[in-house]
Amino acid sequence: MSFPMLQVEGVGLMPVGDRHDPKDVQTAKWFLGLRLSSRTIEAHLNGRMDHATICRLRKSMRQNVAQQIVAQPQDLQRNVENELASYSPAPLSSFNHGLGSKTPESVIKRIVRENCSLRSPFESKVKEWELSPWISGKDQDPELGKHLQTLKDILMRLGFSPESDNDSQFKVLNELGWIVRKVHKKAKEQELKLDSRKLVEATIIYHLGEVYRQRLETIEKKLVCSRCRKPRSYVLEKDGMNYLCVRCGKQIPIGKARFKVRVRLIDERYLSLIHEALREVSNKVAVQ
Ligand SMILES: [Zn+2]
Repeated sequence: MSFPMLQVEGVGLMPVGDRHDPKDVQTAKWFLGLRLSSRTIEAHLNGRMDHATICRLRKSMRQNVAQQIVAQPQDLQRNVENELASYSPAPLSSFNHGLGSKTPESVIKRIVRENCSLRSPFESKVKEWELSPWISGKDQDPELGKHLQTLKDILMRLGFSPESDNDSQFKVLNELGWIVRKVHKKAKEQELKLDSRKLVEATIIYHLGEVYRQRLETIEKKLVCSRCRKPRSYVLEKDGMNYLCVRCGKQIPIGKARFKVRVRLIDERYLSLIHEALREVSNKVAVQ
């Protein structure tokens, strides 16, 4: 959020409509420069300037500093040392090699529509085909993208941070991403369709060990709600006579309640699939 600003003589930029004594404003700015807290400054000025105004003043000072930094002439020479120091490689777990996801089709359509005057839908389609490899050409494999997105989601649930700069986490993400890619490639050759969640969970256990099995395998018990006509989460009512559908609030007497229990286990077939795919890779390496 930014506030409309006004140039006040002897003070600098101030929020529009400010009626404070310029001397007080200068004092406040000086204190802010010394990094005193806004409450302390408010007390020092005997309440002539309230806390919110002091905070706004601080914000405007920061913005001014930010503008000064941006306005400095930039060094257009390449600095390889700097580039190397700030280089952050994308782990193999990030989709599209770290270039982000595919540009949505609607965006490509809009770009074409707003930039060329074409008469027929056919002409537009041709232009869209011409354009899309330039802006989202690398994401040729939406299925792999889905696997990697699932990998990211599940790892986050387990407490990993895919955005982390931490080297050991980077290594784990890179290795998991590598395995997912290998297995996906092999499955594609064999025209096997893989379930993303099963693949990712098996990969995690295969690579990080059985300790993760307990956290990935879940048992889910849900109440079949007669109003929602779907399995729902539920609670037992205080009097202990009824279950309550969490979604719609329908009461169901204990005697009449039906449940749906879903056990999600690691699919052992996926574990052997991973094993096969990786064995092939290591055989190849051995032959070379
Ligand atoms: Zn319900």
